[in-house]
Amino acid sequence: MLSKPVLDIMNEQITHEMASAYLYLSMSAYFESENLPGFAHWMRVQFHEEQEHAMKFFDYIHDRGGKVSLQPIPQVEVEFSSPLDAFRKTLAHEEHVTALITNIYKVAVAEDDVASQIFMHWFIDEQVEEEKNAATIVDLLAKIGNSFGALHQVDHQVGKRGAD
Ligand code: MG
Repeated sequence: MLSKPVLDIMNEQITHEMASAYLYLSMSAYFESENLPGFAHWMRVQFHEEQEHAMKFFDYIHDRGGKVSLQPIPQVEVEFSSPLDAFRKTLAHEEHVTALITNIYKVAVAEDDVASQIFMHWFIDEQVEEEKNAATIVDLLAKIGNSFGALHQVDHQVGKRGAD
């Protein structure tokens, strides 16, 4: 049985993961509207991944005899000024999520809940990947500046996500 502090913070994390999914779906819509289908696809893959993260918590809570109680998903940003702006916000968002994930781990340690600590290892590893992926694209977009041709090359490249 999960302790109340662990149950509560994991329930909150379901909402955070769904909010992440919603943010990336919003970014996917932005890239669709900019006729950048590769980036739109990348964000759509991200949208699905975030929902899977939410479901990992959903299933874990039930596996440990807890009850999921869903909370409202906040409004997300819908305007982005450039692809670089969207990816800078992605990186900042993932850094924020890393802090949330780290905090859940700390609560599991404080509650002496070893199973939850081990469960959180996957998320801690995943956040290293998430930050690296976003930072790589921020770096690329910053380097190409206003080059339309280079932007379309990167769009083509990131559009292959999930295909290899
Ligand atoms: Mg996530």
